[in-house]
Amino acid sequence: MTHLHRSLERNGVLREFKYLGALVILLDATGEYSSNCIGCPDCCTRTHSDGTVEYYHQMLAAVIACPNKKTVLPLAPEPIIKQKDASKNDCEINAAKRLMPKIRKLFPKRKIIIAADGIYSKGPFIKLLKELNFDYILVAKESDHVNLVNEYIERRVASKAEEYEETKDGLTQGFCWTNNLSLNASHSDIKVNLLNFWEIKQDEEKPHSWIWITNLKLTRRSVCRVMRAGRCRWKVENETFNTLKNQGYNLEHNYGHGKQHLATVFGYLMLLMFLIDQIQEACCPLFQAARNRLHSRTSLWEKLRGFFTNYFIESWEDIWLSVIYGNQRGALAPNTS
Ligand SMILES: [Zn+2]
Repeated sequence: MTHLHRSLERNGVLREFKYLGALVILLDATGEYSSNCIGCPDCCTRTHSDGTVEYYHQMLAAVIACPNKKTVLPLAPEPIIKQKDASKNDCEINAAKRLMPKIRKLFPKRKIIIAADGIYSKGPFIKLLKELNFDYILVAKESDHVNLVNEYIERRVASKAEEYEETKDGLTQGFCWTNNLSLNASHSDIKVNLLNFWEIKQDEEKPHSWIWITNLKLTRRSVCRVMRAGRCRWKVENETFNTLKNQGYNLEHNYGHGKQHLATVFGYLMLLMFLIDQIQEACCPLFQAARNRLHSRTSLWEKLRGFFTNYFIESWEDIWLSVIYGNQRGALAPNTS
């Protein structure tokens, strides 16, 4: 995957993903294996109330995404598995602490914004991001950040926070922001900027509301773009995990656990396969035309499988042209064996 990303960098593809002058990298974890009977030394475990033990592997995915683009580019995932000599289970935040230096090593000079959910908006993780020179846009849950949110409300009541609201085509969007707040009492040295965003649809009474903390300076010009990068986080769930679960990749219906590392290797391979498909979707006109020919990815994979079963395939160009136009010119020779 590193080679593919370096190639995307060299060929200018990553430039097209730039947003807020940076690459936005989204983080989220998902399960890839779970069983009540088969486990291994790498498995994390949880004991249910009826005494049964569940063995599981998860992985932390990091994907490059841009609010203006449908495709996402996954990086190598970090397995969430029991670490060597550890007595406790591994967890998402520890996996992220291992992954962050690897991402910096992959893109040593790039401006990078890490966008992630509320479990990441904690002092030690923000300090690590700062050390590695990453920017961040992180969800801040009110229940986790009582003092921070109170300080924001005090500023808002005293008209010391800026805000505006606008309605367009039945959708009202509001922004309120303030810079330079202390994260919390135990990390008062960490100063963050806070963006509160709300949205009310015409037929709904209650607004949906989000709070993000970021080190990016918030101004009237920047808040909409910061909000879009923050909300982009859903692309890991929607464009990555849902595609991997429901569109023929079979994440969660694992191909096997093996004795120790197989489930993890399958996790890596699945993300590698998804990255190659996403690169083709972003860069290859033949793949794009073949993809448009069929209503879903699953149908495209079925079609490919049929061609591979029934014909000798000399090149990818031949197979994509055959998906688009049919094997009209006999480019594919039938496999009669
Ligand atoms: Zn295992």
